Amino acid sequence: MKALKNAIETRGHFINDEVLKVDAFLNHQVDPVLMEQIGDAFYDYFKKYPITKVMTIESSGIAPAFMCEKRFNVPMVFIKKAKPSTMDDAYVSEVFSFTKNKSYTICLGKEFINEKDHILFIDDFLANGQAFLGVEEMIKAAGAKMDGVGIVIDKVFQSGHQMILDRGYDLYSLARIKEFKQNAVVFDDEEL
Ligand code: 5GP
Repeated sequence: MKALKNAIETRGHFINDEVLKVDAFLNHQVDPVLMEQIGDAFYDYFKKYPITKVMTIESSGIAPAFMCEKRFNVPMVFIKKAKPSTMDDAYVSEVFSFTKNKSYTICLGKEFINEKDHILFIDDFLANGQAFLGVEEMIKAAGAKMDGVGIVIDKVFQSGHQMILDRGYDLYSLARIKEFKQNAVVFDDEEL
């Protein structure tokens, strides 16, 4: 997606040779025009499925997932990163965070997913796919189906991309990064 690649190149910063900081438009400050384009791009690709819910993990997945749910006209559910005292009946998984280098618990209230659901999972970044695995476990436990995985920035040089494909999922990433080279991003594809 041209506008996203342009934003990464002009507004992104490297933390090290594996981590990209995009606080200027996605992870802290949110660019509404770009988010709308991202939501549209996910909708255009995944509209072939009978999606009943768009799901993400708080907090940085919320903006793109919200724009996408608007297009599908279905609810968006954001999985929480800590179990609130108000949530009694929940699916719970452990996720190892690539950027924070520690595990955390994710929770999804059981009333917001059931076996009839067709889920589109959306996330801001894909690194080693640990967040994906936690969400997959919950969706399976609920007996629902994950029809697709939409990733805003996919670092294909890490293991998550191939792992999700190997598990048979329809993965659609809007920017695929092959490597960070001399403080520049090398994209994997010609045009998305
Ligand atoms: P994974 O679960 O695929 O290993 O990592 C994905 C999660 O880690 C994303 O939801 C995101 O929060 C965080 N993450 C992974 N790589 C990056 C990165 O390069 N930059 C930022 N800002 N977050 C990342």
